Amino acid sequence: MIKILHKYIIVTGGVLSGLGKGLFAASLAKLLEASGFRTTPIKFDGYLNVDAGTINPFKHGEVFVLDDGTETDMDLGEYERFLNKSLDSWSSLTGGQIFHLIIEKERQGEFLGQDIQFIPHVTNEIIQWIRQKDEVTDITLVEVGGTVGDIENSYFIEAMRQLSLKVNSTDLCWVHVTLVPTLKVVGEQKTKPTQTSVKILQGMGVQPDILLCRTDSPLSEDVREKIAMFCNVPINNVISGHDIPVTYNYPFLLIEENILNSVSQKLNLKIQKIPNLDKWKELVFSISYPTEKLRVGLGGKYTQLGDAYVSVTKALTHAGAHLGVGITPVLIETTDENNHEIIDELSRCDGLIIPGGFGLRGIEGKIRLIKETREKGIPFLGLCLGLQCAIIEFARNVCGLENANSTEFDLHTEYPVIDLLPSQKKVYRKGGTMRLGSYPVKIQEGTLAHQIYEQTIIHERFRHRYEINPDYLTQFESHGFVFSGKSADESVVHIGEYHNHPFFIGTQYHPEFLSRFENPSPIFLAFVRACQKYKRR
Ligand code: GLN
Repeated sequence: MIKILHKYIIVTGGVLSGLGKGLFAASLAKLLEASGFRTTPIKFDGYLNVDAGTINPFKHGEVFVLDDGTETDMDLGEYERFLNKSLDSWSSLTGGQIFHLIIEKERQGEFLGQDIQFIPHVTNEIIQWIRQKDEVTDITLVEVGGTVGDIENSYFIEAMRQLSLKVNSTDLCWVHVTLVPTLKVVGEQKTKPTQTSVKILQGMGVQPDILLCRTDSPLSEDVREKIAMFCNVPINNVISGHDIPVTYNYPFLLIEENILNSVSQKLNLKIQKIPNLDKWKELVFSISYPTEKLRVGLGGKYTQLGDAYVSVTKALTHAGAHLGVGITPVLIETTDENNHEIIDELSRCDGLIIPGGFGLRGIEGKIRLIKETREKGIPFLGLCLGLQCAIIEFARNVCGLENANSTEFDLHTEYPVIDLLPSQKKVYRKGGTMRLGSYPVKIQEGTLAHQIYEQTIIHERFRHRYEINPDYLTQFESHGFVFSGKSADESVVHIGEYHNHPFFIGTQYHPEFLSRFENPSPIFLAFVRACQKYKRR
């Protein structure tokens, strides 16, 4: 029988948010997996939403969807892209979920006679959750969202402190990700924010074992010494996490900084296998020194926050890495449909993606962009809402269905070419009720989709309430649209493509959620190839 180790790594963040804790944790998880340890990440988010599905991507970045339909924080996407494996709902825990669980139990009478308190009830519930994977994973890597000192994650950090008392000291390792800013005027790396944030942790009873210091340039030796001394951490465990242009290079930066030594010393790990990341290295090289450059337009309304479309831009990077192409995503804001500049912006791109989205704002601009790609032969990939907009455009401008629309945007449209899925018609609660998660897609032979996937059944991830109205399919088909992918019972269209065009395809699913650095999404690969061809025309 294979022995399971039961170790934990707790990653906290200090000073400010956005330091790339997720990227660091995913890179560390990658190194541990590549060294032969089964590693399972979990992300805790302190907000009181039960899941990320009801948060505007503008606030918190993209909502990521897992196979089992869990709507999660975008960091889960980073773990999947790095580890090249699919996670499940266990890996995403929120404050809202913990309280929901406890209140449910209280109503069931599980705590009869007791007053329910943060300690021990909330903390015990958290510890129980974390330990659920003990029997299947060597190392549970817990990323604590937010910054130390926040009320939102304080009870979670307390739960992890209690967990550290329940296990041996060699079974749990604290890593604190912190900031070491450089004061430009004096050109000096300043350690005070790090000292202060470590003090906050120490005040909570936690002494970090490893510090990952985010800086713009490598930490100097005297700064390392100073941090080690003031923060009570061995100098070899003060890691320089300086800025690098290609984030997929992060595991190599951590190798150079000897992080595996620090972690294995604390956790008493015997690393038998030197991590083999040769393929990873080749891909990083390919993005760092591309042989060709492309610009891909991304038409949407969340363009002020790049994180809102992070899986889409990463999926482009993955395809680019495999084809030796450097891709610059060009965010095209579609909110003002009278803005003629969007067509100009598109004319400087080699292809267009319309990603997923919700609500009326920005729709007409997206439809305009799609019309342009259809008429000019510019490669087009529509993702969920993107496919729905392509159908509206086609209905209006090719099939002559004037003002055709989705009932999401115009409830009383004469031609509801996009309409609610039948299963959605009785849904009133908004949270977690879309058609979510992985479903099979049946692909018709002899189509572009079949050429791309070379299979007749694939599995992809969905997140939608609306679909292409089946009443209009024949009409679209008579004008050259092909519905090349459908649900297993053929009732829901999953892929649509237009054949009088070099590359025009849309999916009801989100292929970007399954694209991994080492295993890019086939449809993104095909799209990038089409963009290359278009550019060289
Ligand atoms: N708003 C559309 C729907 O609910 C598209 C959703 C999406 O793009 N994820 O069907």
